[in-house]
Amino acid sequence: MHHRTDHWGVSWSTAPAVATPRMMARILGTFYVAAGVAGLFGVLGPGAGAQGRGPILGMSVVVLLCAAVSLRWGPRWPRHAFHWPVGSASALVAVVVWVSPDPATAMTAAAVLSFVAVDACFFFSLPLAWLHMAFGISVVTAALLAQGHVPLSIALALDSVVVAMGTVVRGLVLRASSASRDPLTGLANRRGFDDALQELLATAGRTGERLSAALLDLDHFKQINDTAGHEAGDLVLCRIADVWRRELPTGAVLSRHGGDEFALLLPGMSGPAALDLVRRVAARHPEIGLSCGVAEHHRDQSAADLMRRADRALYDAKAAGRGRAELEGGPGSELARDLATALAAGDVQVHYQPIVSLPDGATVGVEALARWTHPEHGPVPPTDFVAVAEQTGLVNTLGNHVLRTACSQLAGVRTAAGDHVTLGVNVSGRELNDPDYPQRVYAVLAETGFPAAHLVLEVTENVIEGESPTAVAALHELRAAGLKVSIDDFGTGYSSLSRLDMLPADVLKLDRSFIATVSSSARRAQMLQSLVAMCRALGLDVVAEGVETAGQEATVRAMGCTFAQGWRYGQAVPLPELLAGLRVGAHAAPQEAAHRG
Ligand code: C2E
Ligand code: CA
Ligand code: CA
Repeated sequence: MHHRTDHWGVSWSTAPAVATPRMMARILGTFYVAAGVAGLFGVLGPGAGAQGRGPILGMSVVVLLCAAVSLRWGPRWPRHAFHWPVGSASALVAVVVWVSPDPATAMTAAAVLSFVAVDACFFFSLPLAWLHMAFGISVVTAALLAQGHVPLSIALALDSVVVAMGTVVRGLVLRASSASRDPLTGLANRRGFDDALQELLATAGRTGERLSAALLDLDHFKQINDTAGHEAGDLVLCRIADVWRRELPTGAVLSRHGGDEFALLLPGMSGPAALDLVRRVAARHPEIGLSCGVAEHHRDQSAADLMRRADRALYDAKAAGRGRAELEGGPGSELARDLATALAAGDVQVHYQPIVSLPDGATVGVEALARWTHPEHGPVPPTDFVAVAEQTGLVNTLGNHVLRTACSQLAGVRTAAGDHVTLGVNVSGRELNDPDYPQRVYAVLAETGFPAAHLVLEVTENVIEGESPTAVAALHELRAAGLKVSIDDFGTGYSSLSRLDMLPADVLKLDRSFIATVSSSARRAQMLQSLVAMCRALGLDVVAEGVETAGQEATVRAMGCTFAQGWRYGQAVPLPELLAGLRVGAHAAPQEAAHRG
């Protein structure tokens, strides 16, 4: 079944693709400003009669306020919300025409209807655009005639100008949209896909919403083209586009990247959910074989990273015999197998990044960060392989390995002041879900002799947010046993400020995105300062993450943070390099030697 498309290859039943809420808000705001200014001119003009001035002045001011609202908040409105300002504009024009003192003022006001036509034709699907134009023309014409401003023929002349404006704008807009469309299938093309991906990544960065991407590749497409001809090939591509378009949830973006390659974006979906979906949809066209690679976006990763990982999964799917879908890093993937091998062989290293106290710059602790260099692909980013470990159940092995290595390496390391350095270890929510987790930690502590009071378990906020009672219970138990818990990446999820005093935590690590926010917004800076003060009042230590420059250090110091971590104080390095730094030592501190002696 084909969608009805107009001669620009764009479905008539959808809004033009270039009409994003941001564009719509800008256009709407501009028109509202123009209409408000026009109203003021009308009132101030020497010709304007006395009666009608007051209402027109009042409405002009209202219209200017609407412009401000639209420009400020419009970019965040959902598409359908724009029906209100456009419909109201028609009604407003009709009212102004109604109260206009003379025909010239009335016709000038009526001409503002062309703004409505342009908005409607740019923002909405064709039927809805026509509905808006019909409504505007009816009420304005009625007002013109009822007040006896002009004869019917003049009103009709104005109406045809308005309709022509709308129609031409629609044509131009659709032509502009077609630059990001694939003419054969009507799907987005690579350019449209890239635009959509950038926009979704920005949203994911802001809201923490999940996002998955998939690459689809037709199996043996060249063979179809060669044996049955290009028309048969085109039919297959259109069939794929139709089936997928029908089955995908709203918000999904499907595009054709040229040839027989399609790409898919699934906002709000985890990797495993996306994998399920593509498997289900692909089963709808058993006659056409399809290989598919899925990847879930990780925080801080670029668009290129995400697509590279989807491509890796696609490669796996093809290598495993085509006609299948694979999740990047999922069980059975090449990366998961290699990680398991590396863990078994002890090839995953632990590096340490210093945490300093801000008053004097002394190293008081370290964070253990896992490092893995793949024999062929080189260093793998930890966010990549930690995700693989989580998806495959290797995360317990990984966590154990890092914990044991770090505790035994750091057991004898002291700060300049002679205390044990605190050791931060990242713990995945999945690990905490294992009821045996606390026992495993105690075993490692007993085995290595590292003091429980100096071990800090770093967990992210969503773990503490109580998605899993097992995990939260484990944290309470571990704290009762003397360990510390730190909330990692604080501020990237939905920070539960109101429950700060209830969180089973001792340390708050402010995510490094905060530093950027502080310098860009005075209000956020103020808020953050209060947050830090509140934490200190509650007895929580605050560590600022990602401090790179002296300026940033000054910023976090001014906010009241007492601890900091970041490249300014050192990257994550192997233990010998860390010890070569000035302010830590591997020898027993004098006072402890005295105690023993
Ligand atoms: P994280 O816990 O937030 O770790 C801090 C990350 O920020 C590290 O990235 C670190 O290298 C980076 N970083 C530190 N200072 C700066 C700075 O000044 N500027 C910038 N731009 N970045 C800085 P890394 O090592 O790539 O680790 C990424 C994430 O991987 C960690 O984020 C953590 O969530 C996870 N991870 C690492 N090791 C482990 C582990 O052993 N187990 C678990 N479960 N997760 C781990
Ligand atoms: Ca961490
Ligand atoms: Ca962090």
